[in-house]
Amino acid sequence: MRLLEFRNRASALLVAGVCVGSLACRESHSSSTTLTDPPAPTPSSPLPSAPPSPALPPLASCGALPNYFNPGGPFTRWERFPLRLSIDSASLPFAPSELFVAYVKGIREGAVVWSLASGEAFGILSEVGSNLQNADITVRVDQPVGEALLFGTEGEVELLQLDSARIIRRARILLYPSNFPPLSPPELQAYVANIVGHEMGHAFGVLQHSTDPSDLMFGSRNQKRASYPWITVRDLNTMSEAYCR
Ligand SMILES: [Zn+2]
Repeated sequence: MRLLEFRNRASALLVAGVCVGSLACRESHSSSTTLTDPPAPTPSSPLPSAPPSPALPPLASCGALPNYFNPGGPFTRWERFPLRLSIDSASLPFAPSELFVAYVKGIREGAVVWSLASGEAFGILSEVGSNLQNADITVRVDQPVGEALLFGTEGEVELLQLDSARIIRRARILLYPSNFPPLSPPELQAYVANIVGHEMGHAFGVLQHSTDPSDLMFGSRNQKRASYPWITVRDLNTMSEAYCR
């Protein structure tokens, strides 16, 4: 199952459409300025809209406002934290180039924003390393194909393994630098960090987008974002809804 992510800077926004069918949990891009809510999951969706199993440990309280959580949308979450994140070094520009360092630093900075912003309530990573065996989440640089190429996708999340149709067991974040604007290595580091932070939000369980451009989970690059780690109260409250039950 894939959660495709379209983050074309030229677009004012995107339309979020998630989890339709067994292989398509995706977002479709629009160059218009009209937001459309994610469609409700179909009966064949692997991500049920029913509340999570009571066996899962709640990691937050429900009902914190404001949030952009869609209670009719699909639920996913990890059973618990911390998780291990692996960087696929072979996919990066060859070390020890400046670009290699920019990617590694950017991925590391982006990977921890949810843990930082939540005071380690969720999004905690016990290890971030290169080419780790049996990592929970992997980040790699790749070439976009299909819709990712067509729509200028900068990054996307694949939820590779789900348990009981809703618990995420393994995920992968793909970065597509061929769709990035021209950037110097320092600019690239910050750019990668921001994309990874957004994609980690999806990988941790926020499948929808905010319509507020100041939120990290805004559908396109959140140009109005606050300073690092970028996550707003709305972002945190929405993540809490994924982990509160
Ligand atoms: Zn997104």
